[in-house]
Amino acid sequence: MDRPQSWEARAEEYSLYGFTDLPSVHRRGTVVLTHGEGPYVVDVNGRRYLDANSGLWNMVAGFDHKGLAEAAKAQYDRFPGYHAFFGRMSDQTVMLSEKLVEISPFARGKVFYTNSGSEANDTMVKMLWFLHASEGDPARRKILTRWNAYHGVTAVSASMTGKPYNEVFGLPLPGFIHLTCPHYWRHGEAGESEEQFTARLARELEETIRREGADTIAGFFAEPVMGAGGVIPPSRGYFQAVLPILRRHGIPMISDEVICGFGRTGQTWGCETYDFMPDAIISSKNLTAGLFPMGAVILGPDLADRLQAAIEEIEEFPHGFTASGHPVGCAIALKAIDVVMNEGLADNVRRLAPRMEAGLRAIMERSDHIGELRGIGFMWALEAVKDKPTKTPFDGSLSVSERIANTCTDLGLICRPLGQSIVLCPPFILTEAQMEEMLEKLELALNRVF
Ligand code: PLP
Repeated sequence: MDRPQSWEARAEEYSLYGFTDLPSVHRRGTVVLTHGEGPYVVDVNGRRYLDANSGLWNMVAGFDHKGLAEAAKAQYDRFPGYHAFFGRMSDQTVMLSEKLVEISPFARGKVFYTNSGSEANDTMVKMLWFLHASEGDPARRKILTRWNAYHGVTAVSASMTGKPYNEVFGLPLPGFIHLTCPHYWRHGEAGESEEQFTARLARELEETIRREGADTIAGFFAEPVMGAGGVIPPSRGYFQAVLPILRRHGIPMISDEVICGFGRTGQTWGCETYDFMPDAIISSKNLTAGLFPMGAVILGPDLADRLQAAIEEIEEFPHGFTASGHPVGCAIALKAIDVVMNEGLADNVRRLAPRMEAGLRAIMERSDHIGELRGIGFMWALEAVKDKPTKTPFDGSLSVSERIANTCTDLGLICRPLGQSIVLCPPFILTEAQMEEMLEKLELALNRVF
């Protein structure tokens, strides 16, 4: 076989790329990485990049955390793999479930494991369908989410995701209803206050429930802060406005904390930061600090009790993945929780978040083409606009955010273009000096592009 010579050519020859702008790759080549050092990743040519993406929001403890690697190695040596079915599960799985319920906002609860965030959302939908049917409400199958939400890529979680790109798959499936994205800056109407905007979205929810019939709706899913939608915090009072409506109609509220969980917003859960109590939490990514593919559904007391009762009726819940509750994943997650909570990582987010916000705000103010800064904790986005006063977006085939991100890469900074926004979500271990490096490189890139 005649192999191409360079790493870049080999990557393109043998890999089918997902979520990648191919024209950029064809023009610029693939960055092939070999290792990481703290918040930096290093490519085959020895170039270092400060990864302000944390991998994909998940490498919160950086790329070479010794304690996490040791926890993984110790568990691989002791008991390298098992499932959590047929009346057997590893001691690590038992301990992690206990820990997750303990640190959850729930007084009691139960945990179910998957391999990813998508599968955790899928699992939650199946749980709701099963639960409603077993409680005599088989018509309760519709799922409410929001435009611009990101809940994953499996057929069900992609149907929950509110992104037009899923049309290429013929998705969403029927019965997945998307409500207005709670982005006041973009969707607020002329003369409408933020409070009025929130009230309008609450009315839309109420009207949707009335139109569809409450007895046809299985659940409402929301990220506390939309992540892959471009870091969109809820409009003021959003969750306080929608939750009473959901409660009144008996619709469970699921907080998708795949990104927000474990400190990204400055507190353990996004629902704590935004002060609401969901019925269940979806977790992944930070759960293992990115070292193991794992997701979890954390059920609060009401859903846990009702599901347990429904499962007792049929004696066996026919759902689970080969690696559900994998002992190595659980051992890593136990260590990751300890590292984030007790080794000062969550504290570091709280300490440096104001500096990140102030630095990005100053960059926005100095730029003629940054229209909005959005975010909280260690998740922020700058939205590029052609014209600031009218918020007119740029046009053109290669989006301006893609050009900014490419220029950042040239300067040794990885950040993510999302729509017209540039997203920064650095690892929680970032030092002040690395924060300044991130801000400086970003502004340099903006000045080169505009
Ligand atoms: N939910 C949210 C909020 C996410 O951000 C993601 C991934 O980015 C997912 C679900 C899907 O997780 P995964 O990519 O592990 O399937």
